[in-house]
Amino acid sequence: MRNALKAIGVLLVSASSVLAADGVVDYVNPLMGSLSKKELSTGNTYPAVAMPWGMNFWTPQTGKMGDGWTYVYTADKIRGFKQTHQPSPWINDYGQFALMPVVGCKIGEDERASWFSHKAETATPYYYSVYLADHDITAELTPTERSAAFRFTFPQTDNAYIVVDAFDNGSYVKVLPERRAVIGYTTKNSGGVAPGFKNYFVIEFDTPFASSSVWSDGKLRNAVELSANHVGALIGFKTTKGQMVQAKVSSSFVSFEQAWRNMEELGDGDFDRIKQEGRTRWNEVLGRIQVDGGTVDQYRTFYSCFYRSVLFPRKFYEINAQGQPVHYSPYTGEVKDGYLYTDTGFWDTFRALFPFLNLVFPSVNEEIQAGLANTYVESGFLPEWASPGHRFCMVGNNSASVVADAYLKGIGTAHAQVLYEALLNGAEKVHPDVPSTGRWGADYYNRLGYVPYDVDIPENVARTLEYAYDDWCIMQMAKALGRPSDEVELFRKRCLNYRNVFDKEHNLMRGRNEDGTFQEPFNPFKWGDAFTEGNSWHYTWSVFHDIQGLVDLMGGKETFIAMLDSVMTLPPVYDDSYYGTCIHEIKEMQIMDMGNYAHGNQPIQHMLYLYNYAGEPWKAQYWIREVMDRMYAPIPDGYCGDEDNGQTSAWYLFSALGFYPVCPGTDQYVIGTPLFPKVTIALEDGKTVVLNAPGVSAENRYIQEIRMDGKVYGPTWFPCSRLKEGVVIDYEMGDVPNKTRGISKRDYPYSLSNEK
Ligand code: CA
Repeated sequence: MRNALKAIGVLLVSASSVLAADGVVDYVNPLMGSLSKKELSTGNTYPAVAMPWGMNFWTPQTGKMGDGWTYVYTADKIRGFKQTHQPSPWINDYGQFALMPVVGCKIGEDERASWFSHKAETATPYYYSVYLADHDITAELTPTERSAAFRFTFPQTDNAYIVVDAFDNGSYVKVLPERRAVIGYTTKNSGGVAPGFKNYFVIEFDTPFASSSVWSDGKLRNAVELSANHVGALIGFKTTKGQMVQAKVSSSFVSFEQAWRNMEELGDGDFDRIKQEGRTRWNEVLGRIQVDGGTVDQYRTFYSCFYRSVLFPRKFYEINAQGQPVHYSPYTGEVKDGYLYTDTGFWDTFRALFPFLNLVFPSVNEEIQAGLANTYVESGFLPEWASPGHRFCMVGNNSASVVADAYLKGIGTAHAQVLYEALLNGAEKVHPDVPSTGRWGADYYNRLGYVPYDVDIPENVARTLEYAYDDWCIMQMAKALGRPSDEVELFRKRCLNYRNVFDKEHNLMRGRNEDGTFQEPFNPFKWGDAFTEGNSWHYTWSVFHDIQGLVDLMGGKETFIAMLDSVMTLPPVYDDSYYGTCIHEIKEMQIMDMGNYAHGNQPIQHMLYLYNYAGEPWKAQYWIREVMDRMYAPIPDGYCGDEDNGQTSAWYLFSALGFYPVCPGTDQYVIGTPLFPKVTIALEDGKTVVLNAPGVSAENRYIQEIRMDGKVYGPTWFPCSRLKEGVVIDYEMGDVPNKTRGISKRDYPYSLSNEK
């Protein structure tokens, strides 16, 4: 039996090597995370058929118009193929419209919906195909960055139609039979746009129309163009069995003219060529990291997470007739020069997604930083949650981390003065209409050193902790820019404000009233209230920049370690009274059999790495491997909570490499435990990072020794800058902890309190 298993193992490895040579994109499962619902998220993802960071994504639509759960794995029917910009079901969509092929004049979203099977569905990042059983039609689509080619294979019928649905809340459509085209716009959005917002779409067919009509509210109208609450077009064809009707589809947030220009991405519209080019592009992007020696399921998980990490933030700019980037400003409603990216929440993505870009795709973050400078100029603030403009969601002022970490890694330097000014501005002000932008409670925070519990600002301890870390980020950028010492000192002082919400009685963070007393009553298991989507046990660790300071507050490393251990061993008890219902993040913690550790949400995702700051790195190694093995799988219920625009995926990517950016803004990755025997990262400048961990396995998860370029390496962190130079790291793994490695303070990762 053992030998047989071994033989299978060899076969699997060699089979995967063949696949890898053909293209790692084949490992991606875009349906990972799609088996989700409001009460329980296993990712809350939809299959985004798109180019990396593409302006327009496309998805089969199972949910009704306006439903954030746009594609759910358990659904029976597809209602259309939607151009989508949705970053999360909770934020919902904007600028969306859909196409649906049908047999018979069936317009409404229920009437036209068709049964489908996952067995007759192919979902890849660059190509999607499904058999629509009720119409006997196969629908295929393949995208470029701003456009897509569609191919519909019809049965023999005189009643073949394609429904174009411009959605409600104000839409427009016009048929141009002589051009075999339909144009229109959708204004549907969920906020975060200027008045007059439109997504202009243009559709060009390769087949002459047998008929063409427009409709509103599901009824055909005698017109060629129509503007109303909810309009669309119905284009008829007479088809022979197996006849293909193809369509080129594009759009623009700028104008119809720009939409036609964006359609040029499709060239002659040759479906198979576009599909092949999309496949090549995805293999280039995902192929930047080659993994070896793992199981096929580990490869599938890794590349599915990789795919999720290079979708958001998306390009929100277009290329004009002069070949220059321009963007519709969701802040002013005007068309502006330059870059803009959107659809990300920094509360999530400052943690690992942006550090991942800084390592592997710095040129993308160059454009993102240029866009952040534009956002500040156009709106007076950096975004915290943008979709496409400022949205009221989450807490913190973590744009400071996104900007400072990039700058300190040499990215966005051309915009440093504007971006630094934006950080100073954001540290003092709150957006008048969107209080999660800037700093809600800045007056209190700057005066008292914390946002009080008993004033009308919710989630005040979470805000205080994140503002303190954000202040440390500003201080680091101030130092690098050579700002005056009193300015640097102001932020150095403020970044210690985390101390003001630490309660020695519980060794936990706790709400603090304006008069200096702590909140009463205090239940450390209470979610929300002083915290954000977590409890005190989850948020106490949000002192990214000064873990030693937290260790000291707790009275030393023994207590600190015991507190970390407690999170993992406590029962999953919770108090959901703040929400009045068991929110999905709570349920995801409760059911995972990992104590009070809530990996399904962001506040705690760095916690396991903190064992390195107190001399017990082997506990980090044990638990990180558990999380990689138990919380991620390349299947429809494969995540353990909301994926959140690449953040929860980037945790896996970094962790599989064997390290994680606990404190963006430092030059350090904190070491965890590698997953693969070999990883090769191709950096943008041609240098390579090689990570070897021969013999690594679920048993051999403990680091015995590390060599960097052949020399024994003692610290429990790697310098980011050293990796960027190209390096070979050898992890020697074993099945028992090496309790002599990483135990001395000089090998600990960065903490402000340990600075000389
Ligand atoms: Ca989340």
